[in-house]
Amino acid sequence: MMLGLLLARAGVDTLVLEKHPDFFRDFRGDTIHPSTMEAMYELGLLEEFLQLPHQETRLLKAMVGDTLLPMADFSELPTQAKFLAFMPQWDFLDFLARQARRYPCFRLEMSAAADSLIWEGDRVTGVTANTPEGPLTVRADLTIGADGRSSAIRREAGLAPQEIGAPMDVLWFRLSWKEGDPEESLGRIDSGHILALINRGPYWQCGYVIPKGTAEELMAQGIESLRQRIQEVSPFFADRVEELKSFDDVNLLTVAVDRLPLWHKPGLLCIGDAAHAMSPVGGVGINLAIQDAVATANSLAEPLFGQGPIGNDLLADVQKRREWPTRIIQGIQVAIQKRVISRVLASTGKTAPHWFLRLFIRFPYLRRLPAALIGLGVQREHVLSVERTGGGTDLTDQTRQGQG
Ligand SMILES: Cc1cc2nc3c(=O)[nH]c(=O)nc-3n(C[C@H](O)[C@H](O)[C@H](O)COP(=O)(O)OP(=O)(O)OC[C@H]3O[C@@H](n4cnc5c(N)ncnc54)[C@H](O)[C@@H]3O)c2cc1C
Repeated sequence: MMLGLLLARAGVDTLVLEKHPDFFRDFRGDTIHPSTMEAMYELGLLEEFLQLPHQETRLLKAMVGDTLLPMADFSELPTQAKFLAFMPQWDFLDFLARQARRYPCFRLEMSAAADSLIWEGDRVTGVTANTPEGPLTVRADLTIGADGRSSAIRREAGLAPQEIGAPMDVLWFRLSWKEGDPEESLGRIDSGHILALINRGPYWQCGYVIPKGTAEELMAQGIESLRQRIQEVSPFFADRVEELKSFDDVNLLTVAVDRLPLWHKPGLLCIGDAAHAMSPVGGVGINLAIQDAVATANSLAEPLFGQGPIGNDLLADVQKRREWPTRIIQGIQVAIQKRVISRVLASTGKTAPHWFLRLFIRFPYLRRLPAALIGLGVQREHVLSVERTGGGTDLTDQTRQGQG
């Protein structure tokens, strides 16, 4: 959606296909990071974006055992927004779609599931999609696979990811917020449990981390077993765990970490989770996907506007620019998965914070390092693509079978 907005803003005829009828799916995190808000600022949209309901966190904390640890302090970042914004992903996507629709060369087709690629020789020249009105054929100078970790586009292109792996999955559910609860979003880690709590106003969005592949076993034990675990790690939920009536109230989110060795084929580029599925550690996946989109538009908007089909070397440049930041962040995520998450999940006794993390209490400036990594990443992308208000060259030729 972000790349759709940026390309349409640069005058490129752009069609975004989304397989669901709306963005209202409760999955995968709510964090909008300072780097993403900086891109909004560069687009002149930050003020409007911040009108949407959200919570702001300047100091990210985690309760480890009985110790409240200040983990990341965003207030000193060299950005317009010196905080994490917690906002449901559907509100953010709707916002981007609204902004993109201001440009005449943008189209968003909902309930359109891309299912295969159109090839001319070894070049991808478009996609076909299933829609409620029938099959849709889209011819395009460039096809982007931004369809997430189970990307159909990358599969159809014969691009196979290298599995890096994650030791955990996440159970995702809601519990109501009550007077006297903490105000801020928080992580709680203790005695074999990891629980992420996102304050969404009237309710907490909760992510309970379990060892990979153990969801069925837990479900077989019944919902009471999950309720007990939640109370153990977050005693203030004792008066409302009954809100979870059964596992129907709980979604299993499978965590994957992988990366494509090659992100492109002639006429096709994968970005975001389709190129590199991110672990939820640090909550950075949305922002990496946004940075990919900004870098892609910076490199490709002008060639797409000016001359249509673009060479493979330009696609390779996008991969080159975005691959090393992805490798570094995934490397850090995997290290945390191994050294912290696996160990906590395997433990039974009381958890105490590592001595190094305790230094964060005494030396506030240490909190700036995780804030910079989480908030900005390792390679910041600035919006360089231009804005054109008129329509672009008509580069796509769409036909809906049966309608001509
Ligand atoms: C449990 C969990 C928690 C997470 N928490 C966070 C967090 O707090 N913060 C954070 O930044 N990241 C988080 N992440 C990572 C984050 O969700 C992803 O990195 C990010 O969503 C990637 O964005 P994307 O646009 O590449 O893919 P996605 O967000 O997966 O979007 C892909 C889109 O493509 C659509 N689609 C799929 N197939 C097709 C098709 N064939 N045709 C048309 N449309 C299609 C999908 O419906 C979807 O809308 C979390 C991940 C997990 C697993």
